[in-house]
This record gives sequence, C-alpha cells and structure tokens, in this order.
Amino acid sequence: MAPSRYSAFPTRDAAVQNLPEFTEITPTADISSGAYGARSKCLQRLIRLDMPVPLSVALPFIEVRAIASGHRPDTRALLEAFGKYPLISVRPSAETADWGGPGTILNIGMNAATTAHLAATIGKEPAEKLYRRFVQSFSVEVARLDAEAFPPGQSLEGALAAYEAEMDEPFPDDPAIQLLEVLRSMARAWEGTTARLLRQAKGAPAEAGLGLVVQRMALGLGQGECGSGVIQFIDQATGAQQIKGRYKSQAQGREALTADAGALYLTRDPRGESLEERCPELFAELLAHGARGRIGLREEMQIEFTVEDGALRILDAVRVPRSARAGVRVAVDLANDGVIPREEALMRVEPQALGELLHPQVDPEGERDVFATGIAASPGAAMGRIVFSAHAAQACAAQGEACVLVRHETSPEDIRGMHAARGVLTERGGVTSHAAVIARGLGVPCVVGASGLAISSRERTMTTADGRVFREGDIISIDGSRGEALAGAAAMLPATLDDGFATFMTWAEEFSDLGVRANADTPQDAETSLRFHADGIGLCRTEHMFFEDDRLTVMREMIFADDAEDRRAALERLLPMQREDLLALFEIMEGKPVCIRLFDPPLHEFLPQNREGVRQLAEAMDLSVSRVNQRIEALREFNPMLGMRGVRLGITVPEIYDMQARAIFEATVEAGRRGAPIEPEIMIPLVSAKREVELVKGRIDSVAAAVRAESGVDFGYQIGVIVETPRAALRAGEIADHVDFMSFGTNDLTQMTYGLSRDDAGRFMGTYVQSGVYPEDPFHILDIEGVGELLLIAAERARGSKRGLTLSICGEHGGNAESIAFCRTAGMDYVSCSPFRVPGARLAAAQLVISEAPERQKATLSQWIARRLRLRQGDRPNEV
Ligand code: PEP
Ligand code: MG
Repeated sequence: MAPSRYSAFPTRDAAVQNLPEFTEITPTADISSGAYGARSKCLQRLIRLDMPVPLSVALPFIEVRAIASGHRPDTRALLEAFGKYPLISVRPSAETADWGGPGTILNIGMNAATTAHLAATIGKEPAEKLYRRFVQSFSVEVARLDAEAFPPGQSLEGALAAYEAEMDEPFPDDPAIQLLEVLRSMARAWEGTTARLLRQAKGAPAEAGLGLVVQRMALGLGQGECGSGVIQFIDQATGAQQIKGRYKSQAQGREALTADAGALYLTRDPRGESLEERCPELFAELLAHGARGRIGLREEMQIEFTVEDGALRILDAVRVPRSARAGVRVAVDLANDGVIPREEALMRVEPQALGELLHPQVDPEGERDVFATGIAASPGAAMGRIVFSAHAAQACAAQGEACVLVRHETSPEDIRGMHAARGVLTERGGVTSHAAVIARGLGVPCVVGASGLAISSRERTMTTADGRVFREGDIISIDGSRGEALAGAAAMLPATLDDGFATFMTWAEEFSDLGVRANADTPQDAETSLRFHADGIGLCRTEHMFFEDDRLTVMREMIFADDAEDRRAALERLLPMQREDLLALFEIMEGKPVCIRLFDPPLHEFLPQNREGVRQLAEAMDLSVSRVNQRIEALREFNPMLGMRGVRLGITVPEIYDMQARAIFEATVEAGRRGAPIEPEIMIPLVSAKREVELVKGRIDSVAAAVRAESGVDFGYQIGVIVETPRAALRAGEIADHVDFMSFGTNDLTQMTYGLSRDDAGRFMGTYVQSGVYPEDPFHILDIEGVGELLLIAAERARGSKRGLTLSICGEHGGNAESIAFCRTAGMDYVSCSPFRVPGARLAAAQLVISEAPERQKATLSQWIARRLRLRQGDRPNEV
C-alpha cells in the first residue's frame, strides 16, 4: 500500500496500521461480514458465482471508524484501480443488512473532464445530467446544504454556482477529494445518535461497525440496449415463486416485470417491446443468475442490475423483504429444493412471527391513523363499529355487522360479547388481565391498557388524550400485534394457512422434544388446537362453560340457593350441560390428553354487574331486587382473587366439585362407548396446602367409584394440582405424594410472588419497564430470577418425592419463546398455551433442540436421552 499522502492528518491506531485500508473484492480476498459487512461479503459471493459484478473495493469497519474519528484515508491510491476517469458509487455495508446505514452516493468522480470523456460515448446531455445530479446529491447529502438551493429543474451551472455560493469555495473537482468527503460523511453519519438508536432498535449492538463498498458505476447509458432495474423471484407477500421487479430502459421508460402462476409473463410499457422480447438471451442470463444466486446465497434475493449496450451488470443483491407468511413459505421451499437443511428452515422463522401468520394483519404499507396505544394483548387485526357493551356486540353480530368491543376492562360477563366482537380494546389491564387471556384464547385481536382514553359507556363515547371523540357506531381498527387502535378501516392482509405452513409445523414437531398442549375451553378452541397440531388440552377452564345464557341463569340459581338441597337441585341441572360440553371436547380430541381444571373464580363473578342485570335476575328468580342486592352484598369480598375461590370454594361448597367430577366421569364413560376413550386429568386450582388436596381427592375418588358402579364401566383418571400460590410451590414435595401431575399456573404465581395485580399492573407496567425496575413485563416473560426460582424449587421437591411426576406450565408464559426455554431446562414435560400460540411454542421448542445439536453430537444418542430422562425424573437442571 502506498504511504498516506495526508500524513498531516490523524492516522489509524498503531494496532491496526498493518490492516489494509481497503481490499478489492475478488473471489479469494479475505472478506468476512464480521469485518467488512454483509454487502461486501454478498458481493464476494456474487463474484464467486461468476456474476458480472463491476469492480468493487471494500473498506473494513475498523477503517470506517478511523475515518469517522478524523483519519484521512488514501483515496488517491484507492482510485488507482478505477482508471483515468474514475466514476464510482459508495454503498453502506453493515454487519447485518437490516441494520441499515447511510444512503448510497452515486456518480462520484464527475467533473468537467469526466463529463467531456463520457459525452463521447453516452452523449453530452446525459453526461451533463449525471454531473448535475452528482453536484446536487453531494451538496445535500455530503456538504449538508439545504435541498431548496438545488431544485429538480436546475441547470449544471446553476448547481455549481449554488454550491460555491453556499460553501465559499468551488465544487471539488478532484475525484480523490470528492471520495474522501463522501467516505467521511458516511462514516460520521453512522456514528450519529439517530443512526445509532435506529440500528439498536433493530437489535444491533451499540458498537456495531459499518463497512463501505466503493464500486465502479455501471451506468446503464449508451448505445444499444441500456437500462437499469431490480428483479426478484418470489412474491414478498405470499412467498410464492413469481418473477417480479421493474426495469427502466433508457429508450422506452418504465416497464414492470411480473409473472402469473410462475409462467414468465411480462407487462410492459405500451410504447415498446419488453426486455425479454428485445433481448431474450440477456433476459435468460438474468434468470440464470437469479437461479444461481438462490442456491449460492441460500436465500431469495432481490438483484439490482444494469444493462449497458446489451451487456448485463449485477450491482448488488439483497434479501427480499417479506411478510411472515412468505418467510415460512420461502424457508420450506428452500429446504424442499435441497438448498438448506430442514433445521435451518426452522431456525429462519421467529416463533413470534407465526402468530402473525394465523391472523389477518394491518397492512404495514397502509396508512395508520393511530389514536391510542396500549399493550399488544392478542395478535392480529380487526375492524368494526365501536360498541360499548357485550350486549351491543351480540346485537351487532346478530345483524352480521363487524364490531369492536370497547370497555374500561372486561369481566366474565363480557365473554359472549367478546365472542361476538371482531376485536377488543380496553382502557385498563395487562397481558394476563381477563380481556387479554380470553381474547388470546378466542383468537380475537385485542389491545389492553390503552391509557389516555376516556370511555363513557353511558354517553357511548370514547375520548382520546388529544380530545378526539369517537362514538358508538364509528369504525375503528385494532392492531393487536402492535398494540395500536386506529381510526377508520385500516388496510389489512388476510390470514392464510397454506401447505407451506402445514409442512413447516410437521417439521417443527419432528424436531421438538417438549410437548405442546393448548389451553382450550370450548369445542371451537379444541378444534383450533387440533388444527395447530396441539398434543392435547393442558388447561380447560371449566367455569367458562357456565357463561352461556341458559347456563348463567342456572348458575345464578345455584349461587343464590338458600340451602344444600336447593343448591344440589341447581347443580343437577348444570350436570348434563357440563357433561355434554366435556363429551364434545373428548370426542374432538380423539383420545389426546385433556386436563380439566375444576371451578376456579370467586362466585360473585357470575352475578350481574349493573342495575339492569340485577332487575333481570330478580325477575328470572322471582325475587325482589333488594333480596338479590343483599345476596350480592353478602358475597362481596375485599380481595376476591385472594378470597373464596378455587379449592377454597371446593372445600366449603363441595357439591360444586362433586358435580364436576361426576360430569367428567360420565363423559369419560360415554366417550369410551362412542369410540373416543380417554383418561381425564383433573386439576385442582389455587391449592396452598396438602390437606386441601387430600380432601378434594377423597371426594373425587368416591364419585369415580360411584360412576364406575352405576355404569359398570372401568376407567382411569389422574388427579393433579395447578401450582399458582407460592406456598404450593414451596410445599410441592408433600403435595406431590397425593397427585399424578403438577402444572404451574404462572399467571397467578407471578401475581402472588410479586404481590402485583394481574388486572391492574398495565397502568404502571410501562413506566416500570422504562425505568428499568423490571427488565420486562413479568406477566409476559417469566421472571426467571424470582418466579423461576420458585418453579425450580417446586420441581425439585416434587420430583424428589415422586420421580417421574409429570410437570408442565399452563400460565400464559407457556406460549412465550424465552419462557419455554426455561421450562425445558427445568425438565418440564410440556407447555400449554392459547391455541393460537401453539405453533409458535412448538417452533420455539424445536429451535431449542436444533441449537443444542452441536452439543448433542458430543454425546451418543443414548447418553443424550439418558440425560433428558434424568432431568425429567427430578435431577436439577444445572447437573445436566
Ligand atoms: C394461572 O394462574 O396461571 C392460570 C393458568 O390460571 P388462570 O389464568 O385461569 O388464573
Ligand atoms: Mg390461576
């Protein structure tokens, strides 16, 4: 390398003096994306694939950083390779293409001499136009002058004069100086605060480096066929193979390249022939490069090209940006074509992105009039008229009208309205509040905790923080993936489960070693779970079966019963309803395991919440309004979630669990008769003491004995607990003696460990996370340090008492990739989550196995299986 001619300026650190300032990109040059960036590496691959890439020179991160801090690179030496009239572009090359970088600067090297030289081949006018464009972009992008001083119709002389007037010196003529200024400006732009924040938001580390690529311009101007364009071979929305792109011919203006059903079909400017028709060989060459690029780069690439006098030049290639749906399809197609292994296909898709695929989405390209933001509680997009009550939602749905239910917060009474609504928006709540859990279960897009909204159910208005007023009937859209509420009907992309998705899920199943079940309460949920390949139901919240109109009334009669006799009569009416519901679930699940949780919520949740409701109930039960109010008052608790609910209700009012156990066993007998045999799993909620389990188990066993005797049919069943109080976790050792399984209810366990209301935390969670009090919302991502420790203690103690005890998680964390990693390491047998999160959970589990593969290869298969078995039987994870 020639010594720097700018030795008066700071030079690079002594430590890096020996590294080249720049390297020509050749097939054998020592270029890595970690030192030179993804674009430089990609260009080297294109060159290795024999693509006609113009001469390109790469600057490493270390050089660009030195330039940003004042080092003056030897641009004269760099330009030597580009000949007497160098004409070049500089492009950014970050380590990962997604991290962006400053904009490309084209036509560096234009001056009076180059213009005269070029005029001989491409003509005077186009040459001057290039010069003027360069002066303008240099002035605005590099010298940072006001764009208004360089309007589009300006002449070359005008642009040069404007530069001189602003800068008090003539426009730099020397290509080496021009290049120096461009490099310096791009290097400094990368170090700026805005650029830094933007790339960090995309996951780049704070110290991420920028490389630069200096490339000979391939102008696409001159005699014969000349032009420039981009081409890709998939549709970015669906991932289907399709030729798309655009090409601007120097002679004929803009053409569009598209294809129908894979057949090559060109739409073109009506004034002329298409590129394919004019230059069939060149077009075939372009397609051949595309095919070679797909295999060589193992990716679907968008190729930027020019045509100069009938000769093709490939300037650059970038990964085609794509929707989640297209991402899955491309991964499957690449693996099916043998371009990448299946493991890699599985690793290329984010588990969270699968959720996107299963729901319609707000079109990211469409306009967004966001009027409120909150917590993204249930993914997908919905559009409809605003309604402020569950009743109005049902009325709307009955007329076939789409609606969005807007509430302060939801309660069990709203479930039917949530079913009927396309989307839900609440002012309060967090990721495990009622609205969030139910919406995810139903697959209804939902935004909760949209604080700043003032909702008046009486006036039927919703007022935003900046005073916009929405009324019942106005159309709004919900983006449950981003946590945004939008005014009007936002543009949407439909949900689609294509063959690619089914294949992808089959591969994920092959690779995962952790069971994935669904939290499903209704036949509809069960069907969705099966569609998403769930291994079974890990949590059926039976109380949800009592919110249907006919059941709710009987349920209320049960709650209002004056004595055990009346209560039993009401429960006898509930029994066949519960039995039929469970039978339907068992039949749909076709022998797959179903875990049924006994009644959990406080009874008052079933009582009417407003005056009209009380009046209707009084009418239905032939009671006075004041009698109903007295009963409601009597059931009122200061802390209902810590009060008479779950097993506490089961022990104090044992007839409820007796009825449920009988419904489960009678449904089991009937399912067996109908050819869908099942061994039900019965789960006791909110346990905190082993005696609770002994008492409930004793009664369940007697009901089972009675049903066996009455039916003459033998059947098996399992009894377990949901561990959701800290005490249950600590006493898991003695509780384990009485149960067959334990499932961690991490929603309540998180609530109780933190002493943090899952229904109210949304109000301050944002501030808490922003201030770094919590690293994440612990209702969303399992708190490994605190709740996680309780979970490990419980797992260790439980399996210490009973080796091989089945352990699982059924809180919402069961659908979160990071939490799943922890559960797997803790030796759990399965995770259970909302049906729509099952595919993402399965993929997360498969990815864990795949990323362990190198470690696994060190052990023989039998050693590996033995390790996993030991873990499942109770060994502490850190021994593995
Ligand atoms: C839990 O608490 O984690 C749980 C699964 O139960 P629920 O959300 O119904 O309280
Ligand atoms: Mg719970």
